Amino acid sequence: MRFDTAIELWKTSSWTDLAKAAHGKRIQIHGEKDVSYTVFRIINYTNICKIGCSFCSFKNGEKYTLSIDEIASQAHLAKKQGADAIFFQGAVNPAIPLSYYLDALKLLHKKLNFKVRGFSPVELFHIAKNNKISLPELLKKLKQAGLSSVPGAGAEIMTEKMRKLLAPKKLSAKDWCKVMEECHKAGLKSSANIVIGSTESPEEIIEHLNYIRELQNKTGGFQSFIPWVFQPQTNDFPIRHVRSDEYIKLIALCRLFFHNIPNIEVSVLGMGKVLGELALYAGANDISSVVLEERVMHSQGITSIEEAKRFIKEAGFKAVRREIDY
Ligand code: SF4
Repeated sequence: MRFDTAIELWKTSSWTDLAKAAHGKRIQIHGEKDVSYTVFRIINYTNICKIGCSFCSFKNGEKYTLSIDEIASQAHLAKKQGADAIFFQGAVNPAIPLSYYLDALKLLHKKLNFKVRGFSPVELFHIAKNNKISLPELLKKLKQAGLSSVPGAGAEIMTEKMRKLLAPKKLSAKDWCKVMEECHKAGLKSSANIVIGSTESPEEIIEHLNYIRELQNKTGGFQSFIPWVFQPQTNDFPIRHVRSDEYIKLIALCRLFFHNIPNIEVSVLGMGKVLGELALYAGANDISSVVLEERVMHSQGITSIEEAKRFIKEAGFKAVRREIDY
């Protein structure tokens, strides 16, 4: 699909037409019945961040950095709850030494046998900078210690106007892509996402999707794409209500636009179960993870393996458990 066709479809098509076309494409790729889910626990290792994005709720809470023992106790609990992976993400906290990250990864992967997805591009960029090592060198060390993939976090909307509004001190779109490219080169696959619901224009939404699609043409490292909506976590930047039809339209457009990314995930955590179910008929083939812990927002997601299986079955599909990195 061409860039201007995508803009045209976004502006003029009905959500039902797009959903129908996207569902057909999803069936061609994944079959009619399978819907996947995974089970990981999020460990936010710190909420101390020098970047200060306007939408981030971390600045509101009591400051903390988890000790390795605290990480171990959260991981043991995750094991009991049936998780086979940890989503290890925090913030840009220059006081944390490199040895902390390596010890945490060794604990989670080598000792406790979890797959670990971790560190957003902005965290990776600053960990390398603070430790005066190159990004490839850092990625090699983290991989050797047990990192298996990286999240697509921190992209939000990758246009200059939106980055100035949301996160002027975060990575530019170009730098975000450069870090991701290095991760993919190092053999660390990832997801990618978009977050809508501020003052972005339709053109900016498609521009963002295009950034990701072009990078995927180059690296092939994105395994999935997840559309999100900004949550009202602070009063420091403008958010708007994203209507259900807009979210479904976005899911559908992502399926049609990304000929090169196989999995489209619906954020049941962010959008709730009713919209989650509808998204499975509009191009999405995955409900992302069962939520075992989430500090960033209050959960309206699916909180147990049984609930995930039931949700998918009641939506009319067959539940298939996958690993965090597919
Ligand atoms: S970089 Fe991440 S953790 Fe830091 S303020 Fe921005 S969103 Fe929050």
